[in-house]
Amino acid sequence: MTDRYAVIGNPVEHSLSPLIHAEFARATGQDIAYGRMLATLDGFRAAALGFRDAGGRGLNVTLPFKHEAWRLADTHAGHAQAAGAVNTLRFDGGRIAGHNTDGVGLVRDLVDNLGCPVRSRRVLLAGAGGASYGVMEPLLRELPQTLVIANRTPEKAVALAGHFEKVAKFAAHGVAAKSYDALDDARFDIVINATSAGLADAMPPLPRGIFAPGALAYDMVYGRRTPFMRFATDEGARAADGLGMLVEQAAESFFIWRGVRPETKPVIEMLRKRDS
Ligand code: NAP
Repeated sequence: MTDRYAVIGNPVEHSLSPLIHAEFARATGQDIAYGRMLATLDGFRAAALGFRDAGGRGLNVTLPFKHEAWRLADTHAGHAQAAGAVNTLRFDGGRIAGHNTDGVGLVRDLVDNLGCPVRSRRVLLAGAGGASYGVMEPLLRELPQTLVIANRTPEKAVALAGHFEKVAKFAAHGVAAKSYDALDDARFDIVINATSAGLADAMPPLPRGIFAPGALAYDMVYGRRTPFMRFATDEGARAADGLGMLVEQAAESFFIWRGVRPETKPVIEMLRKRDS
């Protein structure tokens, strides 16, 4: 029997997840159907439980429901516990397991696809929203030299750093929260834009001269060349978008649901060709 999965969000029409999971299923011979579910802003819980009760096996969760998904889950696996946000739900009978695969997806894209190890690097994370919560612990477990968080609303950067105080020790020089203004003299080897600014053709107010020689600028936004990516290229850095992260986090969800790890590179290439 075909097992049913879906991505739930608001909005959700733009999601590439159905295409990605259809490719994974075809390549691995898994019998699944994967759709899109638009939930009203106050309707996430009812929609997710309705999907489960109708026999659905799992959901990917996107904006703005990742925190609500965390609260819906009976158990939190791996990084989801600390992240306080869940992007993957697995339904096993009546029990709901919550996972967060965003951080694993980001790290795999950085390290395996882009050849950019995090270990001993100076990392700047711009943004302190749900995506940043999801990637903090996996980034720290890669043992960076330092991890600095900057955010437009500085208190949220401070709160994010405080939330992960217990794992801050994985960065040799620890975790610090700063305002964009205070970054003037700092240099980073990896700058991750985890803000949604690129969606509005804007960028966080990063100062010039922030990229160390050979730095990577990574925008989690995908499918467009963002102002942040243009800025980084002008500053001499290598720029990448978040398409690889999207596919890698999807592959981890697929593995959680099906116990099979799909190949990601052909799917990333297929999506890039589609965009060009
Ligand atoms: P979110 O919870 O809404 O947080 C948005 C963040 O962006 C906040 O830190 C916000 O700052 C900041 N921001 C928004 N506009 C800004 C601007 N003009 N200048 C400076 N900062 C700005 O969103 P999220 O869930 O963290 O997602 C962030 C982005 O990552 C989204 O675009 C999402 O699509 C993308 N994402 C991609 C993947 C992937 O697989 N590639 C996975 C997850 C998320 P304030 O706190 O000051 O409001």
